[in-house]
Amino acid sequence: MKHKIIILLILFLGLGSCKKDRVEVDILIKNGTVYNGVDSIPSALTLGLVGDKIAYVGTGKHMDFSANRIIDAEGMIVSPGFIDPHTHADRELKNPKESHNIPFLFQGVTTVVVGNDGSSDYPLAEYEQLYKSNGVGTNVAFLVGQGTIREKVMGNSDREATDVEILKMMELVQQEMDAGALGMSTGLFYAPGSYASTEEVIALAKVVRQNHGIYDTHLRDEGAYSIGLVAAVKEAIEIGEKADLPVHISHIKCLGKQVWKQSDSLITIIEEAQKKGVRVTANQYPYEASATGLKAAVVPRWAESGGKDSLFIRYADARLKPQILHEVAENIVLRGGADKLLIVDSDHKEFEGKTLQEIAQEMGLDANEAVFEILDKGYARVASFSMAPYDIKNFMKQDWVVTSSDGNTGHPRKYGTFPRKYKEYVKSGVINLADYINGSTSRTADILGIPQRGTIQEGYYADVIIFDPETFGDKADYQDPFQLSEGLQYSIINGKISVEKGTYNGQLNGRTIKNE
Ligand SMILES: [Zn+2]
Repeated sequence: MKHKIIILLILFLGLGSCKKDRVEVDILIKNGTVYNGVDSIPSALTLGLVGDKIAYVGTGKHMDFSANRIIDAEGMIVSPGFIDPHTHADRELKNPKESHNIPFLFQGVTTVVVGNDGSSDYPLAEYEQLYKSNGVGTNVAFLVGQGTIREKVMGNSDREATDVEILKMMELVQQEMDAGALGMSTGLFYAPGSYASTEEVIALAKVVRQNHGIYDTHLRDEGAYSIGLVAAVKEAIEIGEKADLPVHISHIKCLGKQVWKQSDSLITIIEEAQKKGVRVTANQYPYEASATGLKAAVVPRWAESGGKDSLFIRYADARLKPQILHEVAENIVLRGGADKLLIVDSDHKEFEGKTLQEIAQEMGLDANEAVFEILDKGYARVASFSMAPYDIKNFMKQDWVVTSSDGNTGHPRKYGTFPRKYKEYVKSGVINLADYINGSTSRTADILGIPQRGTIQEGYYADVIIFDPETFGDKADYQDPFQLSEGLQYSIINGKISVEKGTYNGQLNGRTIKNE
């Protein structure tokens, strides 16, 4: 009798372990090669999504799934959605007709950061509400721009801030941090950010520190324009050290022949700071051309203080004009020459697609004089071919450098960054696929302080992309920078499908992400 009971018990337990667990999920993703955003090797895993979260990650063995949607990812890469820490997508996101954020979506980006380079929409609380009511195609996180705050308090004046003005700026930074900014950005190369001393920036960074935010910077000099690239990196580190907060250097690069191959010494300086306990990281876009406003690229800051009108008043002044033209000519040389400056976007469409040299020739002017004819017709943006492959690869290989697009109109990076990095640098073996994915997902989330995203893990938000390793790549180039990338099969944002079999379904599944 006793034996019988034991045998029955064994049978019962045996049957029990064979019985499959029944799990209900909304979306099941199976048969894919899963890179979870953290590990260095992929796994064959099944993902179950419920609501806006990842509810199951495992082998799927002994599981009986019931799913509303099953995605067979055979032959595909499954990854956390990419996080882009430096974009200018705010220009589109605030417009309900463009808030789908398609250029980024097709790169596999599910979260963008806006408010970079010291310039943010103000006040944040209002814009965050606007994004929410319009709906957004990707998640959006915010930075408060130091240039914007300075302008609110001091206009475009190039003078030093008084103590009272600094206190007022600190108050406004606090207000924007309260509204959910992840940190503060600076554009110390650009006016009016460039007029701020290191001390002024440190005072504001201390407010950010109290709110556990980060300091994101477009360096004061990425080349040999003013203080020099090395001094600019040291300034960023000093700000991080004195204000005791993490420093994130945006679009790290060696801009212009004069500073090529300085990446080696910069890496040493940054890693020494890291050893001393300063948390320094950087982001980078995988292109040899930078892009910025023509004015920012070649006009000296003192000459534009006060804005465009002030610039043209000074230019008309016979005592100042020779000096302005002289410095503009020097800056054109620093950018590699007038033939290396391509107008990619302009209020005056005839300039687009031409180099500064070509336009100057057509006008019968010297290049430095042509600059003012172009600026007189309105805004003009230039792509400037001024980076060396050596430095690009050198920075890319560092585990503290993550992917960013710096996406703005006219440069192919807005449409191509993430797939291009895969196509050009992963496929050729400069970096491996896991490093590429980890440096576009979890490491970025970590740097920015974005919780529960960037990793495929149970309990995390279901931002998941699926791409074809054969075809994933960029198509945008300088001639046609508006071509969507290809090879993305699925994009799932907050548990909802946005891209399906390579086609966008028009849904606005993004959310605003706030520093809480
Ligand atoms: Zn920038």
